[in-house]
Amino acid sequence: MIEVLVNFCLEMKLLIIISDFYHHQHSTISVILNQQSAIYNQKCYNRRMSTSIDPERQEKAKVYARIQRRLMLVDLGIGAVYLLAWLLSGGSLALRSGLQAWTTSPWLLVAGFTIIFGGIYVIIDLPLSYYSEFTLPHRFDQSVETLGGWIKDQLIGLAIAGVLGLVMLEAVYWLLRISPGFWWLWAGILLVFFTVILSNLAPVLIMPLFNKFVPLGEEHAELAERLTRLAARAGTKVQGVFTFDMSKRTKAANAGLTGMGNTRRIVLGDTLIREFTPDEIETVLAHELGHQVHQDIVLGIAFGSLINLVGLFLAAVVLRWGAAAMGAAGPSDPATLPLFGLVMGAFGLVTMPLTAGWSRWRESLADQYALESTHNSSAFASALARLANQNLSEADPEPWVEFLLYSHPALSKRIRMAEGYEGGHQ
Ligand SMILES: [Zn+2]
Repeated sequence: MIEVLVNFCLEMKLLIIISDFYHHQHSTISVILNQQSAIYNQKCYNRRMSTSIDPERQEKAKVYARIQRRLMLVDLGIGAVYLLAWLLSGGSLALRSGLQAWTTSPWLLVAGFTIIFGGIYVIIDLPLSYYSEFTLPHRFDQSVETLGGWIKDQLIGLAIAGVLGLVMLEAVYWLLRISPGFWWLWAGILLVFFTVILSNLAPVLIMPLFNKFVPLGEEHAELAERLTRLAARAGTKVQGVFTFDMSKRTKAANAGLTGMGNTRRIVLGDTLIREFTPDEIETVLAHELGHQVHQDIVLGIAFGSLINLVGLFLAAVVLRWGAAAMGAAGPSDPATLPLFGLVMGAFGLVTMPLTAGWSRWRESLADQYALESTHNSSAFASALARLANQNLSEADPEPWVEFLLYSHPALSKRIRMAEGYEGGHQ
């Protein structure tokens, strides 16, 4: 539940803030925790040579993607049943009444309800998390993370999601109490501030909890200089190019543009630096700079906030009606929390094609920018193919899968676009 709420608010932003260039499937806050992983076969690819999609790896990638999709459905099913069970069994009212025996403070009631309600969900969902995030990637020979490392990531992630979720819910229920008519509008505005602050703080406060970020060192001085020149040409203010120890969890590669203003930086997985040619890395960075030039972080926050506002308005309508139907004291009764989660969760699900579509559109523009600024479409196509191979990513998904879930255009399309650029422009 905390997870559902945090996901709904942060998903859009975290995707933009934390994981970019390659992220084939719409995911959650756990994006930071479990980057898609892959095996890398030294015999097959030479990092000084360009590469293309490996058909054998694609066979495996298809199976992997199908299992992941099924697990996602199971996860959604568990979440829905959990929320409905609290509402239909009367457990929601019983928990609130039980808590009222201890305290009358509305703040403590919301906190107590959230912790018990969210805590039970985390426990119920734990076996599935363990299977999908630890067992499965290992089975597909992708993850290199130790069980201890995974548990540590889970605990840090839970602490962050718990604190953020609790702060958000306390704010929402406080607004419900003081402004029953327009709480959804205030909550939407508050969420914008929350997101901007979080975008600024994530690179310096949250991300270092999971990875060590260091500036590109002496050994990559030439690469660092090349990338800095590229950034300067794009006229963007970036506070340095950083690398992070992605390889402690996975063999997959990724890169991203994080933060805003003074915390804005470009981050490259050490796996990317290790396995990609300097030409390829340059095109990857150019893609990231494309987001910068196109103001994608700001636009993404604006777009996400607008969607959130619609969701909150719907929640206001449903809570007004639902509180009476379920016998709660009113919409601000903490017992309505499962209903709030259900509305926001369902709304997030329904709007997923819209947010994924928005993301794919901005991503394809960033791809275009990368091609125009580097004039190196063969290196770009090669970088994308290397990602498909290395990250065990399905390059050519079914159209409906891409439509519903993909935050980036399918890799096969991105590669075709790069190859088309070669022919069309020059
Ligand atoms: Zn991107």
